[in-house]
Amino acid sequence: MNTPEASFLTWQQQFRTNKDCLQYLKEMKWPNGFMCPQCGHDNGIDLHCRELTECSHCHKQTSVMSGTLFHGSHLPLLKWFWALYFIGSDKGSISALRLSKLIEVNWKTARLMLTKVRAAMGHRDSLYRLSGTIELDDAFVGGKHKGKRGRGAEGKTPIIIACENKHKKAGFIAMKAVKNVNFKTVKEFVSHHLLANQHVRTDAYPALNIIDKTQQHEPRVTPSEKVDEWLPWVHIAIGNLKTFLLGTFHGVTGNYLQEYLNEFCYRYNRRFVEKQIPNRLLNLAIIHTPLKST
Ligand SMILES: [Zn+2]
Repeated sequence: MNTPEASFLTWQQQFRTNKDCLQYLKEMKWPNGFMCPQCGHDNGIDLHCRELTECSHCHKQTSVMSGTLFHGSHLPLLKWFWALYFIGSDKGSISALRLSKLIEVNWKTARLMLTKVRAAMGHRDSLYRLSGTIELDDAFVGGKHKGKRGRGAEGKTPIIIACENKHKKAGFIAMKAVKNVNFKTVKEFVSHHLLANQHVRTDAYPALNIIDKTQQHEPRVTPSEKVDEWLPWVHIAIGNLKTFLLGTFHGVTGNYLQEYLNEFCYRYNRRFVEKQIPNRLLNLAIIHTPLKST
């Protein structure tokens, strides 16, 4: 799929008013024109607010926002479209405070929008399964001190990370925050994010042995100076993630971490088509099922 690139200027030209956004959404949702979800009739009348279309046959009123990520939101679409632009074009991830100022909503609303968009990003990437040679490792993020397993890990959240090794470059990545790195969480992660029977490299940490059951697992006890040869890409990704989390969130812990991991992975997995991200997010929001507002 070739998605158009977006810049501040193109977005501004395309989405100047709420009406522009409604029109765009209608064209995307009903490419062959309106169709009533209740009776299938194809003649609809736009009501005054324009978000509602009334079927001229059965009179059912349908919101163009229903069945999308915008469903149930009282915000004008214009604010949503611009939120997607700002989220999609900010490399370091936008804070709720900054987003709230840019689109003139309160902080809580901006926070909720970010939560929904990041959840959609996670769902989109969860459709993909990593394949080929895959590096898999765990890491600890957040907390005050440096440290991996054991000492120094207090207050940190463990995560499991996998990255496709395409020799001279990294492929797709996946990350999951977990309570502990153990057989159960590793098994779940592998079954959700990897195709079966792939070549998986690890550092032979015992909890990762469960990988043997479904994958061609190659564990290798690796002294720290050799780790960049055996697991190069997964360590670069961990390093980038730590910078990303520190830069914007001053260290994230707890429940919100997975949201940020979703955004980090989504952006990383599209790093070669970065300028398409705002339009990709817009398409994603339109096809995504509604998410609860709480
Ligand atoms: Zn109808």
